[in-house]
Amino acid sequence: MSEYSIPSVVEKFLRYAKIDTQSMDGQDCFPSTAKQRDLASLLAKELREMGAGDVFYDETNCYVYATIPSNLPEGKSAPVLGFISHMDTSPAVSGKNVSPRIVLYEGGDIVLNEAKKILLRAAENPELSSYAGKHLIVTDGTTLLGADDKAGVAEIMAMAEYFLTHPQVKHGKIRIGFTPDEEVGQGVDRFDVERFGADFAYTVDGGALGELEYENFNAAFARLTVNGYSVHPGSAKNKMLNAILLAQEFQGLLPAGQSPALTEGYEGFYHPDSISGSVEQVTVDYIIRDHDRDKFEQKKAWFEKCANFLNEKYGKQIFKAQIGDSYYNMKERILPDNAHLIENAVLAMKAAGVTPMISPIRGGTDGARLSFMGLPCPNLCTGGMNFHGRFEYACAEDMESCVEILKNIAGIYAG
Ligand SMILES: [Zn+2]
Repeated sequence: MSEYSIPSVVEKFLRYAKIDTQSMDGQDCFPSTAKQRDLASLLAKELREMGAGDVFYDETNCYVYATIPSNLPEGKSAPVLGFISHMDTSPAVSGKNVSPRIVLYEGGDIVLNEAKKILLRAAENPELSSYAGKHLIVTDGTTLLGADDKAGVAEIMAMAEYFLTHPQVKHGKIRIGFTPDEEVGQGVDRFDVERFGADFAYTVDGGALGELEYENFNAAFARLTVNGYSVHPGSAKNKMLNAILLAQEFQGLLPAGQSPALTEGYEGFYHPDSISGSVEQVTVDYIIRDHDRDKFEQKKAWFEKCANFLNEKYGKQIFKAQIGDSYYNMKERILPDNAHLIENAVLAMKAAGVTPMISPIRGGTDGARLSFMGLPCPNLCTGGMNFHGRFEYACAEDMESCVEILKNIAGIYAG
């Protein structure tokens, strides 16, 4: 290890990773955890120290905004470009006492924790083989790493530092945004798009090097309420309406193949996510997902139709379907008018020696919501893997490539 000199982006990442910024589901406050401010205030301080402009730390809502001013010659202009990452880590696994460690990967399993016998196994992580000869940042097997999304944060900070120390490298105005609570689905709730003032942006929140995403699910939640009729089971003949069985009957009308465990790529689904109740009443909360807007609308319509059909069958209003949209596929806001965001990201990756991998996201992103808030916002890779778990890791060399990609994108837009 002695001959490996830690690049600036990795040095930053190791420091940020050690700060616990785990967000928490089901909180009434915003941000969901106060400790996210520990990283936010540090980032604001570091941005000021490196000479960024307009550094604004919204302490109440825990957002950090900053500018790398344009250094283009007078008369030359470029669009205002934004880069955004989230500071929180997943509620799924502890982010306390994260002890990141750099290993030169030479193949095989990686011992994460000798004492607890925790291994990152090559057999379970076949993609590991492609990292042979590179440096991986791993956990001690007891926490997540937080590359999601502190790798993105570190990459944006490294890009900012590079531009601010290399005034001869030309770029337009670049806006930086760091957000809280992405992992609990509220990362952009209080994001000030107007203050941010970018023409468009990228979230830096993807995984493997080369990932480029601009298609995500259209998403809805759907609550099925079934009102049964409870009678003593001994004298229930022709009287009882068991809501549990009725809910099962409803589920049976949904296309059996359209469930998460049987779909991939562009295939959408219905997913009963939670259920509660008894004979008298059952509530089932579903999520409905599809990349295609028409198919998404059809899925929602079918859900309602099933409830109506069963109400007709029983001659009573037993089934109630309540459906609400959560977010939409950002593709609508990227193509065709903002296709340059994808084309230029592809060029920037190729210039950094990276092969672009464009694939649909089977979920949503902050970028999807931002796109519908008026800020078109595809998602770029960070070089991190196995997010939200103890086996999360990031590749140091890939993180350096991600910084190159960000720099290249800014260069391309500067013309
Ligand atoms: Zn993330």
